[in-house]
Amino acid sequence: MTADLTALDASVLATKIHTREVSSVEVTQAHLDRIVAVDGELNAFLHVAGEQALAAAKDVDDSLAAGNAPASALAGVPLALKDVFTTADMPTTCGSKILEGWVAPYDATLTTKLREAGIPVLGKTNMDEFAMGSSTENSAYGPTRNPWDTTRIPGGSGGGSAAALASNQAPLAIGTDTGGSIRQPAAVTATVGTKPTYGTVSRFGLVACASSLDQGGPCGRTVLDTALLHEVIAGYDPRDSTSIDAPVRPVVAAARQGATGDLKGVRVGVVKELHSDSYQPGVISSFDAAVAQLTELGAEVVEVSCPNFEYALAAYYLILPSEVSSNLARFDAMRYGLRVDDGNMSADQVMAATRAAGFGKEVKRRIMIGTYALSSGYYDAYYGSALKVRTLIARDFDRAYESVDVLVSPTSPFTPWKLGEKVDDPLAMYLSDLCTLPTNLAGHCAMSVPSGLSADDGLPVGLQIMAPAMADERLYRVGAAYEAARGPIK
Ligand code: GLN
Repeated sequence: MTADLTALDASVLATKIHTREVSSVEVTQAHLDRIVAVDGELNAFLHVAGEQALAAAKDVDDSLAAGNAPASALAGVPLALKDVFTTADMPTTCGSKILEGWVAPYDATLTTKLREAGIPVLGKTNMDEFAMGSSTENSAYGPTRNPWDTTRIPGGSGGGSAAALASNQAPLAIGTDTGGSIRQPAAVTATVGTKPTYGTVSRFGLVACASSLDQGGPCGRTVLDTALLHEVIAGYDPRDSTSIDAPVRPVVAAARQGATGDLKGVRVGVVKELHSDSYQPGVISSFDAAVAQLTELGAEVVEVSCPNFEYALAAYYLILPSEVSSNLARFDAMRYGLRVDDGNMSADQVMAATRAAGFGKEVKRRIMIGTYALSSGYYDAYYGSALKVRTLIARDFDRAYESVDVLVSPTSPFTPWKLGEKVDDPLAMYLSDLCTLPTNLAGHCAMSVPSGLSADDGLPVGLQIMAPAMADERLYRVGAAYEAARGPIK
């Protein structure tokens, strides 16, 4: 009985819990048992909060037993939270040694929303340190393994959340996406993940990587589950200065419409610049088959050109490090976590020694690149130029969306590669972000939905669907229609 519960969709579990066919405590316990059974090998969780999760589950059961309506559509369904959102009752490490054992004094707005929605938090998931990476190998707590093939990476930076979903350790998860950290892990684990429009999910209590790009978002095994979670976490927050004061987009209705309908009247643009011979052949053939399916569903598919996307990678890897070099200055050995101090050191020496010991290689690399790009004499040439490219990319999108409703591309040029394969080659690692970065630079929204297994290695491939800012519902309509037409993976 309990083993079966972990294989069910979140929407199905929610119905069973709300009709009191099963209790949230049973469902939560089943997932905790699953974590014990499989996570020794996968390392998706950095911290498991069994007691708190069961207490939250019991609250939901008690409330339902008292005749109350469920607090949300997902009340009682447990979730895995990326370890970059603060939680007052468990540690927040961001995958870094510098925050080992640190417990935040307050919950992130997103955490509060989960609690208010009656969603038990199973624990905190593994990630590349401060969300910098595409493989989860930059975690100070060891890599996460891909459930499809444990010798391979689960994507990054949110590899823990994606692996937890793919291995049935959690029916729902939360990620963050600064350059693809929700979508690329979703693609390589055959799960679903959305980067919502920038400003629609609060960043209050989300430990900053690059503030102008970071966005929390929902992850699930189906488009509908992801939509249900999207509506729980989105919404205006006065404590986030970039939060958009507008109603939450109707993504659940769009997912339901998509799942039962066709795509007549929907205009889909294939981005020419994101369809390249340099991508893995099995990725391209899977993508082409997905596009054919969209056409069969009645969508009008055209090719569009976004010429400045070619410069997205270069611009992103200047803008992100620049913001990182500023944001991570707060880890000064005084306020949070680790402090290396032999008792005879000056404040400067303590700071230097703590950072040397507490930050990993990739984080140090980006702090140095960012510090250089922002230094006087180089600011205009590097940071300034990158900002101009950012504007050109947004204009490419605007032009494309004059004639289409959504854009599509592969989510990642590659299927999951072997652990260790790219750790010594940062540029090769960065190349896996090629298709996801433009959306973040423009502040738009995008989703990855599984498009089957690659013909060349049998590993998961993701279809990326992109839409303009504040049009997140389009992702869900197209994603759900495609998912229904595609049928189950395997
Ligand atoms: N892989 C990208 C990077 O390393 C994206 C990270 C993210 O979205 N947090 O920066």
